[in-house]
Amino acid sequence: PAQAVQRTLMAFGQMVTINATLDAETAELIAAEHGVDLKIKEPESIEDTLISQIEDQVDDENDLAERPPVVTFLGHVDHGKTSLLDKIIGLDVVSGEAGGITQHIRAYIVDKGDKKISFVDTPGHEAFTEMRARGANVTDIAVLIVAADDGVMPQTEEAISHAKAAEVPIIVALNKMDVPGANPDRALQQLSQHGLLPAEWGGDVEVVKTSAITGEGVDALLETILLTSEIHEYKANPSRDAVGVCLEAEQESDRGVLAKLIVNNGTLKVGDVIVCGSTFGRVKAMYDTLDARKRLEEAAPSTPVNVTGFDEAPAAGEKFYVLKDIADAREIAEMRSDRSRADKLGGHTVKVSFEQFQER
Ligand code: GDP
Ligand code: MG
Repeated sequence: PAQAVQRTLMAFGQMVTINATLDAETAELIAAEHGVDLKIKEPESIEDTLISQIEDQVDDENDLAERPPVVTFLGHVDHGKTSLLDKIIGLDVVSGEAGGITQHIRAYIVDKGDKKISFVDTPGHEAFTEMRARGANVTDIAVLIVAADDGVMPQTEEAISHAKAAEVPIIVALNKMDVPGANPDRALQQLSQHGLLPAEWGGDVEVVKTSAITGEGVDALLETILLTSEIHEYKANPSRDAVGVCLEAEQESDRGVLAKLIVNNGTLKVGDVIVCGSTFGRVKAMYDTLDARKRLEEAAPSTPVNVTGFDEAPAAGEKFYVLKDIADAREIAEMRSDRSRADKLGGHTVKVSFEQFQER
């Protein structure tokens, strides 16, 4: 009887109404407490079937082709992440930034000889960690930017632990080498103390000395990225439907939703039906992230693109999937938004921890 369940929950310190939702784990504990057999049935929704089919799709070895590495810049604020990226792409974004603080996620794919490198510059580490929390790992290589005059700072330490947790190779750009107070040896010493032993000291971490102002070392940094990428042989299947991640999105007054997506695998095409979190749409137009006027018909693996066609702005860090049928995409999006609305309205899902259970 519901009352008996309520009483048990009360004993765990949870006052609940008769309509409350229990998570599976709690339901199991309650069932055990009452000596009741419990079978947890997973709903077979269209979301489960379609999305997990895509997630489980294994690419044929023969379909795999080399793809550019996706490189994320991490480091302490003001150590030069944005300036270095500006130097690489030959633009000046940093001087236009409000208060010198990066507000948006920037992502560009650039040519280096006959190779390409995809760069992501994030406002902070939140975006990096949030994406990982959602299971969306877009980063292949982390470039840790450390100002040679400042050395390792608190956010540098954070960045090191994020990159280590993501298990991606770390390349250090020892930046601001042009500054009179630059003290590279001290910075290298500090990095060693944080488990990043520079190659020049016999370790396995490549350190490139750079200056975003003079351009010193920028080419060497790109070469080091490509060398690292060659060792890891990043591959994808360009012939399948695209999957990837929304880096950020906003509602624009003139052209609806503009979403910055990065393709992880497959090729995204104009006209594709996509679902991303609780939003969906058909790719209306795609634009180059460097040149907003340049329209693209396709985006290959590792390519960031600005996309129009979503009904609403998807949340940053949500994964996107291409589906065959717009009705399926709508259904999945609606199901997800109903669910998040129910989560908001229905308050909390009751959860009893194992500790609470044991304490009794
Ligand atoms: P971010 O917060 O890591 O993105 O750092 P920014 O790129 O915004 O750079 C912070 C400040 O440091 C700006 O005023 C840049 O002009 C300056 N800066 C960045 N890199 C260098 C460099 O290599 N040398 C010098 N002298 N200044 C730099
Ligand atoms: Mg910045």
